Amino acid sequence: MQEKRIVVCIAHPDDEVFCSGTLLRLADAGNELTVVVGTQGEKGSHDPMLTAESIAAARRQEMDMSAHRLGVKEVVQLGYRDGELQYAEDLKETLFRLVRSIRPDVVLTFDPWKRYEIHSDHREIGFAMIEAAHLGANCWYYNGQITDDIKCHRSQELYLFHCDEPNYYVDITDVFERKLYAASAHASQFGPDVDEVRLRSIMNQMNPDVQMTIEPFRKMWHSNLYL
Ligand SMILES: [Zn+2]
Repeated sequence: MQEKRIVVCIAHPDDEVFCSGTLLRLADAGNELTVVVGTQGEKGSHDPMLTAESIAAARRQEMDMSAHRLGVKEVVQLGYRDGELQYAEDLKETLFRLVRSIRPDVVLTFDPWKRYEIHSDHREIGFAMIEAAHLGANCWYYNGQITDDIKCHRSQELYLFHCDEPNYYVDITDVFERKLYAASAHASQFGPDVDEVRLRSIMNQMNPDVQMTIEPFRKMWHSNLYL
């Protein structure tokens, strides 16, 4: 796949680690990547001496650094409050507008049906983004958005990461070291040095049989990234 527009929709600045090897491969192949971050991630610290503003500012910088290392063209920060994302009209309308503006060929987001997912933000953004990616083509949804520049649009491909029942796998062996390097940009979350052991901990993947050099996805439609 080349010269396609790809949107990666996450809840927090660091969630891209679930698919960042795939993002590296897509960027290397000449595709245009946009990362959409739902919240500011301002609850991402246990230090009571910090402020929400300072945490959010640090994480914004970390997200930009990670995106740069991954070859992402643009980071869009939606600015919602951490832990308070809701699969509701405001978020949906925002994501419909975004899909209709960027017109992605491919969307990647959280699997909102993943069992035992503790973080509600991951579920809420997944539900809202899936709906926008699919129903953005239906002009009866939020038809006040439609202008000469913003037209109805449906993503041709949709992949869910952090999923229970994967049916599509991307081999990231060749870019694995670069994935670790990009993850280490999130020093406030992961520490400055991320190795494979640390990555397993970050991704809550303690099963030693699971290869960290393979990224699993739930492919929603008949499509192929050719990776
Ligand atoms: Zn998260």
